[in-house]
Amino acid sequence: MIQSDSSAESYHIKSYYAATTIGLRSYPKIKESERCDVCVIGGGFTGLSTALNLAELGYDTVLLEAKRVGWGASGRNGGQVGTGMHWSQQELENKFGAEQAANLWNITELAKREVTKRISRHQIACDFKSGVLATAVTRKAAAELEKNAIYLQEYYNHAAIRYVSSDEVSEMLGTSSYFGGSLDTSSGHFHPLNFAIGLARAATDAGVRVYETSPVRAYHKNLDGYSLETNLGAEVRARYVVFACNAYIDRLRIKFSRYIIPIESMIVATEPLSAKQASELIRDDVAVYDSKFCLDYYRLSADKRLLFGGGEAYIPNLNVDVARTMKRRIIAVYPQLTNTRIDYAWRGKIAITTSRLPSIGRLFPDVYYAQGFSGHGVALTNMVGKILAETIAGTAEQFDVLASIPHRSFPGGRVMRWPIHVVGMYYYALADRLLTRSFG
Ligand SMILES: Cc1cc2nc3c(=O)[nH]c(=O)nc-3n(C[C@H](O)[C@H](O)[C@H](O)COP(=O)(O)OP(=O)(O)OC[C@H]3O[C@@H](n4cnc5c(N)ncnc54)[C@H](O)[C@@H]3O)c2cc1C
Repeated sequence: MIQSDSSAESYHIKSYYAATTIGLRSYPKIKESERCDVCVIGGGFTGLSTALNLAELGYDTVLLEAKRVGWGASGRNGGQVGTGMHWSQQELENKFGAEQAANLWNITELAKREVTKRISRHQIACDFKSGVLATAVTRKAAAELEKNAIYLQEYYNHAAIRYVSSDEVSEMLGTSSYFGGSLDTSSGHFHPLNFAIGLARAATDAGVRVYETSPVRAYHKNLDGYSLETNLGAEVRARYVVFACNAYIDRLRIKFSRYIIPIESMIVATEPLSAKQASELIRDDVAVYDSKFCLDYYRLSADKRLLFGGGEAYIPNLNVDVARTMKRRIIAVYPQLTNTRIDYAWRGKIAITTSRLPSIGRLFPDVYYAQGFSGHGVALTNMVGKILAETIAGTAEQFDVLASIPHRSFPGGRVMRWPIHVVGMYYYALADRLLTRSFG
């Protein structure tokens, strides 16, 4: 059951998640220099999962987090533990061939199992529920969802997915906004910050030394490994390094950060709804996302609030009124919520790549990075952490599958890559509006 823990708000940005943490611990700042086998930088799902798996494999591991465990995207997101990647399997097959597409599919299927395995093994109270419904805002998108569901059933033996007609979507969601959908019962949703808190507890129980408010400001190669310099003066010397900083890497300028740019997504939580009202909105308590380029995603929390996200912002620190912007988007789907109060409003950074597929690789033989999950990282980060740990321990095949995805730098160099991308994004956002108007 969810309990309120207001002290969490001083650690994290103000959000529904921070107000409802369970078992929050704080971890010390690093005060003295130390040595370890592996230093993981970043305490989101990627870093926590990597560190936990490494400790279980017997590696002496230190995790350095600039703010708090789960402070980044991992503790702020829509909580959807989804199937697959940004591309459909057919698109992956066309680009990379059938074998590679199947390998990627297997990794993403294992990713969902990795999440549920961790929840039950470490008894993480994070309100996991099954079911994600993708909805179509145009007839064309509905036809694509149907085609994709049939394809996954036939060629990937994925019985958990089925096409849902527009009438059934209306019954499930109490809105006539959609032309159809596909329901995947192997996907699910949860309280992401509580999951991160649970992973950190499991990691420390397994022997990982977690340090919070300990930002890494530089790293150097030595004769016997690497040294990570922190802002606090203390440094960590390690044989292996894993960068798991994602969209929050900004000040650490490293070669691989040119493969990503940060965009912001917004989320709000309404006041708690009555059980009747909640089931009229989302009958089966599944998570929902729509087919727009700048998509809406939503679900109910354990205490029956509507958590509604979307409305990507391409200009960081812009003074957007998140609650007002998102209320407009909610009312477009659920006009019956016009008088419903918004209790929490927050934003988070998503790291996207040019292809919208994750950017995972090696800088040197002993330095790894994983980033750019492009809004599809909740499940995948957890599998990537396991793969990175196993790679360091010497089992490299799955790492090579992910590392073989080619990535282009964002055009424009360090200064211009972001403004050039913003123009492109606005083009697609405009196309969303025109499409939904002409087909809807
Ligand atoms: C609003 C929002 C909604 C989303 N919804 C979904 C969803 O529903 N489903 C889905 O699959 N994905 C979703 N995503 C994406 C998903 O949350 C991410 O892909 C995933 O959490 C990335 O995890 P991570 O560990 O790689 O990065 P993060 O969780 O961002 O963690 C990176 C960490 O690195 C730390 N760090 C950075 N630099 C340093 C440094 N120099 N020293 C030490 N530490 C450092 C940061 O403080 C941060 O805590 C969403 C993202 C956002 C922002």
